[in-house]
Amino acid sequence: MIPVMRPWLGPEEAAAVAEVMASGWVAQGPRATAFENALAAKVGAPHAIATSSCTGALHLALAALDVGPGDEVIAPSLSFIATANVIRYTGASVVFADVDPDTQNISAAAIARALSPRTKAVIIVHQGGVPANIGAIRQVCEPLKVAVVEDAACALGSTYKGAPIGSHSDFVAYSFHPRKVITTGEGGMLVTRRAELVGRIRRLRDHGMSISAAQRHESRTPIIEQYPETGFNYRISDIQAAVGIVQLGRLDAIVARRRQLALRYQRRLAGLPGLSVVIRSTLQHDQLPVVLDHASR
Ligand SMILES: *Cc1c(COP(=O)(O)O)cnc(C)c1O
Repeated sequence: MIPVMRPWLGPEEAAAVAEVMASGWVAQGPRATAFENALAAKVGAPHAIATSSCTGALHLALAALDVGPGDEVIAPSLSFIATANVIRYTGASVVFADVDPDTQNISAAAIARALSPRTKAVIIVHQGGVPANIGAIRQVCEPLKVAVVEDAACALGSTYKGAPIGSHSDFVAYSFHPRKVITTGEGGMLVTRRAELVGRIRRLRDHGMSISAAQRHESRTPIIEQYPETGFNYRISDIQAAVGIVQLGRLDAIVARRRQLALRYQRRLAGLPGLSVVIRSTLQHDQLPVVLDHASR
């Protein structure tokens, strides 16, 4: 049997969990904050918000952008269903754009064809960790004030033009489901450069509550919280976060091993008739021109 993914877990993760248990604080707290800081530093993003899943992280990004009924959000025709589901959660319409057969990623040209005056955002997916052409996509979207959200569920540790996925766009969401690059059992993370939205995203993650449980716990006087808007429960637990911190330390080794295996598949399968392998995208992004019009495709 060849498993799709095998989680890379060791006694270090078990010890980290035992430490959380002994501490008496198992809900979202100091370890979640430490995990957020460690991941933000690793991917070169100024802010990170840990969540219960990548789905939750994507939904928070759309909520922070005030995507709602009447809006359209473009998504790739090929992805896991969560990419489209989060758009439906907001009441907006999903507009599918075709993926490129060579990379299996949504392309700038396909996005350009799917745009309408109602387009509020585009969710791009780095299929299987192979980066989409972020630069070309931003070139299409930014002049029109269409937000770009990266569904990087499988792309923690990937790079685009030499910089980590997470450092290029306003919103990038990762998954820590066991099928992804690193795992916390279940979990996710949203990284963002939009400092002005971070407070609201943290509140929306936590029932819309103005003060977190950890802050109330630390306070010596009672704090009465407020709920300025309808929120969700997309929190991570400190048990998961403790595993995530250890996993993050293994990221480089995991990615290196996966690259080795990918290369092996590419070499050994390349000659099979009727089968094509995904083009290694780094080369392609630097060499292909940006194609925006329909005819030249
Ligand atoms: C796995 C996956 C998700 C969902 O991640 P969860 O953490 O399970 O919510 C979303 N998008 C893509 C592309 C995925 O592969």
